[in-house]
Amino acid sequence: ARPGVPSRYVTARVAPLGSRLVLALVEDRTREKRVEEVRRDFVANVSHELKTPVGAIRLLSDAMQDAADDPEAVRRFADRMFTESERLGKLVQQIIELSRLQADDPLDAPVAVHLDDVISTAVDTSRMDAETKNIQVMVGGTSDLQVFGNEQQVLAAVSNLVSNAVSYSENDSTVLVTTRVDEGSVDISVVDQGIGIPADELDRIFERFYRVDPARHRSTGGTGLGLSIVKHVAATHGGEVRVWSAEGQGSTFTLTLPQHFGAERKTQEDSP
Ligand code: ADP
Repeated sequence: ARPGVPSRYVTARVAPLGSRLVLALVEDRTREKRVEEVRRDFVANVSHELKTPVGAIRLLSDAMQDAADDPEAVRRFADRMFTESERLGKLVQQIIELSRLQADDPLDAPVAVHLDDVISTAVDTSRMDAETKNIQVMVGGTSDLQVFGNEQQVLAAVSNLVSNAVSYSENDSTVLVTTRVDEGSVDISVVDQGIGIPADELDRIFERFYRVDPARHRSTGGTGLGLSIVKHVAATHGGEVRVWSAEGQGSTFTLTLPQHFGAERKTQEDSP
């Protein structure tokens, strides 16, 4: 960031599990109640979020019928119907992803996850969108790193970060995905030169269904669930996710996960 330009760091830190048994029992009850509340809120939010695109698709199909003899209007309505159904599809997919993550919480049988594979798959997932906007997605930093966790989850988190970086960047810009080791942890950073996030919104972007000014980027068809998935993955892995952002300059999201110190993968020359 340039000096004098306001920017902020926000950390979604994951607290260690409760320490004392007596307190733990009381906390357990409170936690159970909270979990139930969160679940109820989630169901209410999900139904609200699903009703919006479903309602829109229905209205658009009515409008298309009424405009049957105006091919230009029909084409416009069909375009919007396509956008709404894409959004609906993404919403359903992310809701399923989030509930899968919750079922796998805490992590069941963590293993070594090779970051090079995860990052290249994540970048591939956003390739079409990046090409459409002429955005160059570059990968750098330390290669051959492994983290300790669940591959599907790590992939979901990194894919969401890369896809956001592409969605919230202008045409002809660059997105960089880098990795580095820091005292037993691995930092995966996704850096963009995009629209950035207002400082007073940074605290909220990790909340489920929260979107910064949805009208500003309706066309990106976001769901507001991507970053809550990232935060959840950080939590189940005992890691964290941080964001730095300055409006009009770009954002950097850094996901920190525990390093796995397994044997490095054999290259082809190493194999007999
Ligand atoms: P969405 O599906 O809307 O992208 P997310 O949970 O992934 O939902 O992100 C929440 C909000 O945070 C987004 O709606 C967007 O306003 C903001 N955001 C996320 N990533 C970025 C980014 N790289 N640059 C600018 N804004 C971002």
